[in-house]
Amino acid sequence: MADFARVAKIDAHVHLHGSADRFMAQAERDGVRVLTINVDYPDFPPITEQQRDAISLRQRYPGRAAFAATISVEGFTSPGWADAAVRGIAAAVAQGAVGVKVWKNIGMGLRDAGGGYVMLDDARLLPVFDYLESHDIVLLGHQAEPLNCWLPFDQMTVLSDRTYFREHPQYYMYRHPEVPSHEAQLAARDHMLAQHPGLRFDSVHLASLEWDVDEVAHFLDRYPNANVDLAARMVHLQYQAVRNRDKVRAFLIRYQDRVLYGTDIAHARGQADEEVAVEAHEAWLADWRFLNTADTLHSPDFDGTFKGLALPAAIADKIYRINAMKMYPGAWPPSDGARAAATP
Ligand SMILES: [Zn+2]
Repeated sequence: MADFARVAKIDAHVHLHGSADRFMAQAERDGVRVLTINVDYPDFPPITEQQRDAISLRQRYPGRAAFAATISVEGFTSPGWADAAVRGIAAAVAQGAVGVKVWKNIGMGLRDAGGGYVMLDDARLLPVFDYLESHDIVLLGHQAEPLNCWLPFDQMTVLSDRTYFREHPQYYMYRHPEVPSHEAQLAARDHMLAQHPGLRFDSVHLASLEWDVDEVAHFLDRYPNANVDLAARMVHLQYQAVRNRDKVRAFLIRYQDRVLYGTDIAHARGQADEEVAVEAHEAWLADWRFLNTADTLHSPDFDGTFKGLALPAAIADKIYRINAMKMYPGAWPPSDGARAAATP
């Protein structure tokens, strides 16, 4: 724990809105650089506003804040949608975006004129993925949800999922059997990836295979250009560590080059920047303790105790920084000698 603030880290999955100055001050104190990700999510500000904030953040915190853009599905069924999406991506990249996020609304929300759900491997999305692949731009994909989303409340493994789906009943798929299944969501994603072998893919939230590290391993084995991030799914690793700490630890060691650290910390609508800064600090500390120490820990999310994973420092460095810098080269340019020394 004594190393925490001293070791350079990247939180490769946050959603910052507004000026975020308090958040960034905390990040600097804690030795954290960030990737803020724009999302086509109605709970967040409009995409144009997210993008304006992200561009400003990158300019005000050079070398410390990078961003990923997103595409809006508005007008998806109109001819010309894909062309406009590609133009939007090119413009965002010209302003510094290092990736493009697609969200679970594709697969779980967006409908055709005929009422059918548009899945990630839909032919109308192809020009977008072709463009990203040919321009070596990372696609960040959040498809499906934790498996808990398809289970009754009393069978969910962790409290945070129970809380989220109570608060977001529209995304609670156990109550929406008409929406394509978890399996169908991931099959569409995997089909799209198989069609784009050169596409670099950041499969966020442990690729929505969070319930078993063996499933994540199988995904990574099948798609060599894909990585996963830990955002908002550390709790699922901890849950597995209660019974099977060695398996979780072995997974991170075996896939040490394929896993990115991230929290999913976000400015919720109306939430004070100061409050988010405190939340982030606590999350960064708690995650650091879990990954780097052998302390006996417990989580408010489930019963039982688990031990920290005590990863070797060289592996922690990859998960915390080096893998993100490789996936997003140039995202965090060194802005002084100290940071230059920390660049892999
Ligand atoms: Zn997120």
